[in-house]
Amino acid sequence: MYKISMANLRAIRNASVKAFPREICGLIAYDNSDAIGNLIFLDNESKGNSYFEVNPEELYSILIKNYKQIYFFHSHPYGPAVPSNADREGYYPYLYPHLIYSVSFEQFVMYEVDGKSWSETSFEIFRK
Ligand SMILES: [Zn+2]
Repeated sequence: MYKISMANLRAIRNASVKAFPREICGLIAYDNSDAIGNLIFLDNESKGNSYFEVNPEELYSILIKNYKQIYFFHSHPYGPAVPSNADREGYYPYLYPHLIYSVSFEQFVMYEVDGKSWSETSFEIFRK
């Protein structure tokens, strides 16, 4: 079961609203399965507002650290928290669970990602 703290959800929501109409993106990186995840925002280097792009070197510098688990997240300023074609075709690693926050729908949706297949799944919120 995926677990995300209330504080991290709140921080992702607030950053998403603040960045509007830009998308935000980042990672929740867990030192161990009981810990509150470390929230790591990545620069969105995209030119447009309907997708995001991360710097591969910045991403790599995080992925090589020895985190127990990593979730990706990004925001959708417009539209529902459903992966876009750009998300499915994106170049970021394809095997990490991914959280999308929709600003206009005020909705978080968690996905298991396997290549271009994204399946909606549930997550537990813990109150920290
Ligand atoms: Zn997206």
